[in-house]
Amino acid sequence: MIEVAALQKRFGDNTVLRSVDMKVGRGEVVALIGPSGSGKSTLLRCLNLLVVPDGGAVRMGERRFTFGGGAALPGTQALAKFRAATGMVFQQFNLFPHKTALENVMEGPVVVRRMARGEAETLARELLGKVGLSDKADQYPSRLSGGQKQRVAIARALAMQPEVMLFDEATSALDPELVGEVLAVMQALAAEGMTMVIVTHEVAFARDVADRVVFLRDGIIIEDGPARQVIDAPREEATRAFLSHFH
Ligand code: ATP
Ligand code: MG
Repeated sequence: MIEVAALQKRFGDNTVLRSVDMKVGRGEVVALIGPSGSGKSTLLRCLNLLVVPDGGAVRMGERRFTFGGGAALPGTQALAKFRAATGMVFQQFNLFPHKTALENVMEGPVVVRRMARGEAETLARELLGKVGLSDKADQYPSRLSGGQKQRVAIARALAMQPEVMLFDEATSALDPELVGEVLAVMQALAAEGMTMVIVTHEVAFARDVADRVVFLRDGIIIEDGPARQVIDAPREEATRAFLSHFH
């Protein structure tokens, strides 16, 4: 489904990703863990070319781009198409404050996919139902809790009918008592067979919900394996040392 090969990214003279290889199969859930600054967000953003790599290749389905070595950069339209196949959920919810929950979810289908408003509203109500917020459709974000806002953000991403969902610390900005409701929505999506890449500090969630866990440190994949094996019995000392902070 998604594959990166020999992926490299620098910001100035700071090399953030050093030849990263990673594959995510259709319907697979991959959790990306690692210390702050290890390059998790950068890798996630390279998967949908929100960050343009300096070297290597990125493939999603049939679409494949190579970078560096004189390869031409993809055009704006090609980039937009590529990104549209992914839904992204950030730590900060980035909802439109002057639009209701329903309008936030309808926005992408109407503006980007040019869906008729009636059809978009039906879709948006269905998705708000799916994230447990049917009764909040007409609320503005300022009247929603953090957990509710994040669930609206997930519904909004799903409204673009992405092939893959990317989550960047979707629960890190939430009060502890609101984390569970967002993780439950993510778990339900995983159970439905959505392809997902999840950057998270929720090690227990990664262990229980992800198929694979990838441990990144200093822009290098140190360990990549079945979730339970990586979390419960890491092969690498560095993974073990990192995970020891969570016990
Ligand atoms: P965290 O757990 O704190 O979110 P991370 O693993 O997601 O960390 P990244 O955000 O990918 O790490 O950052 C990796 C490195 O790249 C850091 O040194 C960061 O300062 C740098 N970096 C990230 N984005 C940019 C940018 N747009 N411009 C310059 N440097 C950047
Ligand atoms: Mg990050």
